[in-house]
Amino acid sequence: MIDDKGEIYIQKYMDFLGGKPKIAYFSMEIGIDENIPSYSGGLGILAGDTLKSCADLNVPVVGVTLLSQNGYFYQKIDENGNQIELPIDFDVPKFLQKLPSITSVNIEGREVKVQAWLYQYKGIGGYIVPVFFLDTNIDGNLDWDRTLTKYLYGGDNKYRLAQEIVLGIGGVRILKTLGYKTISKYHMNEGHAALGTLEIFNLCNDVEKVRQQCVFTTHTPIAAGHDQFALPLAKSMLGNILPDFIINDVTFENKLNMTRLALFFSHYVNGVAKKHGEVSRIMFPGYSIDSITNGIHSSTWVSESFKKLFNKTIPGWLSDPYLLRSAQSIEKTQIWDAHVQAKQELINFVNTNYNASMNCDDFTIGFARRQTAYKRPDLLISDPKRLMQIAEKKGPIQIIYAGKAHPKDASGKEAIKNIFHVMKTINGKVKITFIQNYDITISKLIIAGVDLWLNTPRRPREASGTSGMKAAHNGVPQFSTLDGWWLEGCIENITGWAIGPEKTEHEESDDKIDSYDLYDKLEKLIMPKFYQDRDNWIRTMRSCIALNASFFNTNRMIQQYVLNAYFM
Ligand SMILES: *Cc1c(COP(=O)(O)O)cnc(C)c1O
Repeated sequence: MIDDKGEIYIQKYMDFLGGKPKIAYFSMEIGIDENIPSYSGGLGILAGDTLKSCADLNVPVVGVTLLSQNGYFYQKIDENGNQIELPIDFDVPKFLQKLPSITSVNIEGREVKVQAWLYQYKGIGGYIVPVFFLDTNIDGNLDWDRTLTKYLYGGDNKYRLAQEIVLGIGGVRILKTLGYKTISKYHMNEGHAALGTLEIFNLCNDVEKVRQQCVFTTHTPIAAGHDQFALPLAKSMLGNILPDFIINDVTFENKLNMTRLALFFSHYVNGVAKKHGEVSRIMFPGYSIDSITNGIHSSTWVSESFKKLFNKTIPGWLSDPYLLRSAQSIEKTQIWDAHVQAKQELINFVNTNYNASMNCDDFTIGFARRQTAYKRPDLLISDPKRLMQIAEKKGPIQIIYAGKAHPKDASGKEAIKNIFHVMKTINGKVKITFIQNYDITISKLIIAGVDLWLNTPRRPREASGTSGMKAAHNGVPQFSTLDGWWLEGCIENITGWAIGPEKTEHEESDDKIDSYDLYDKLEKLIMPKFYQDRDNWIRTMRSCIALNASFFNTNRMIQQYVLNAYFM
C-alpha cells in the first residue's frame, strides 16, 4: 500500500520522467562536442558530460550556454615556452542549427536581441537532449553588443557582465520564446548564469517561488574566484531588473556577487566534492550547502581499446557504468594489452608531431590541465637533479605535459616557460614533451596513454578535479595531493597514491613537504612497482576501474542531482 504522500511521490517522479523538459541547465561553457570550441576546461567538460549522461538516462533536461563563436583561444608555444594565443573561428552552421526565435535583453537601457543555435545530443537509448547556444551577432544590434557571444572569458568586467545578462536573463527568456512551458528547475552550473534568477523573480514577484525553482552548483573554493561587479556598474547595466530589497543579501564589499545572488535565490546548493562542500559551508555561513561529487561521462573518456575490452567482458557497461565494478575479474594480460594500445597511440603522436623519441616500454607520467600557479605544474620538475637520479636508479622516465594558461594569468604562462626551461637543462635524461593546444581530443589521448596521472593542486583550491577520473576509466592510477575528489578516490597503493599529508599545520599545502614526498614515493614505491612488479601494477590498474570508474561517473552524479536537487 502506498500512503497519500507516497502516491504523490511516485506520481511526481513519473511526471518528472515524462519526456517534457523539466530542467534547464545553464553553464557559461558546455563542452559537449570536440568540434564545438565553446569551452575552456574542467567546468565546460563537466557540463557536457552531465548533459550526455542525462541523455543516456532519459533525464528531461535542456542545456543553455553562450555560442562563444571565437572559442577560448588556439594555443601555440614558441621554442622558449612563450604562449601565443591565436583566434579560433568556428564554422557554426556546420555543427549547429539556427532557430528562428528571437528574444531580447536590456543592457544599459538598450534592447539587445538574442537568438539561439541548436545542438542535439542523442543518448544511448535515443533520447535527445537539446542544447541552446545563445548568440547576439544579429543585424540591428550595436557592434559591441554583437561581440558579446564571441569570446569565452575574454574582455573586461563590463563585457563579462553583459555576457552574463545574455546567458542568465536571455537564457530564461529564450526558453519561453521557444515554447518551453514545463521547466520547473533552473540549474546554474557556477554563478555565471545567476542573473537568470532576476528574470524568474520578475515573472512571479515571489522570492520563495523563485527559490523552489533554482538549483546552484558552486565550483570555486577561493573567494577571489567568484564573479563580482562594482555595484554602480551593475546598476547601470542592469537597470531596474535588480530589485533594491535584495541588494544587501547579494552584495559583498559593495560589489554584486554572483555566488551570493545564486545562493539567495536557490533552494538547493551544492559543492562538487565532499571536501568542497565543507569549504563552501565555511565560506558562506548561514546557507545550507550540500555536496555531490563530480563524475565524467564514461563512454566519452574510455579509449577505443578499453571500450572493446569492456564490451567483451562487461556487457551493459555503457548504459550502466556501475557494472565496471566487475573489471576486478578481467584478466591482467587483457588489461595490459588494452593499455599498451592506448599508450602506443600517444607515443606515436608525440614522436610524429614533436620529435619526442619516446619509448613505449618506458614509464610515462602525464600532467595536463589549466596551467596556473595553484596547480603547481612544475612541482614534478622542481628538483631536476633529483628527478634525473631517480631515472638513473629506477628506470627511464618520460613526462608529457599539456595545458593552456588564461591569457591574463602571468603565473600560468611562467609555469609553461619553466617547463620549457627545465626541458632544456635536463637534456633528454628525462624525456619531456609539451603537447600544444590542450583540448578534448588531446585530453583523450593523454589520459589513456600514460602510465601515471599526476595532479598537484595546492589545498584547498581544487574543488573536485575530473581528469583523474578519466584516467581511472582507462586503468591509469593517479598520484595526487589530497584535495577535491582524490580525498574520496585515493586508496593508497590500490587506486593510486597520495602526495603529502592530508592535513598540515596550516590549511595550505607546503611545497617543500609535497615535493619531497612526490620524489620519495616515485622512487621507492611507484617506479619499483611499475618496473619490477608488473603483475601488481596491473592489479592497481584494475582497481582504478573497478573501484573508481564505477563510481566517479556522471551517471551516478546525475542520479544524485535528480534525487537531491531536482526532485525536491
Ligand atoms: C578533464 C579536462 C579538464 C579538467 O582537468 P582537471 O585536471 O580536473 O582540472 C580540463 N581540460 C580538458 C580539455 C579536459 O578534458
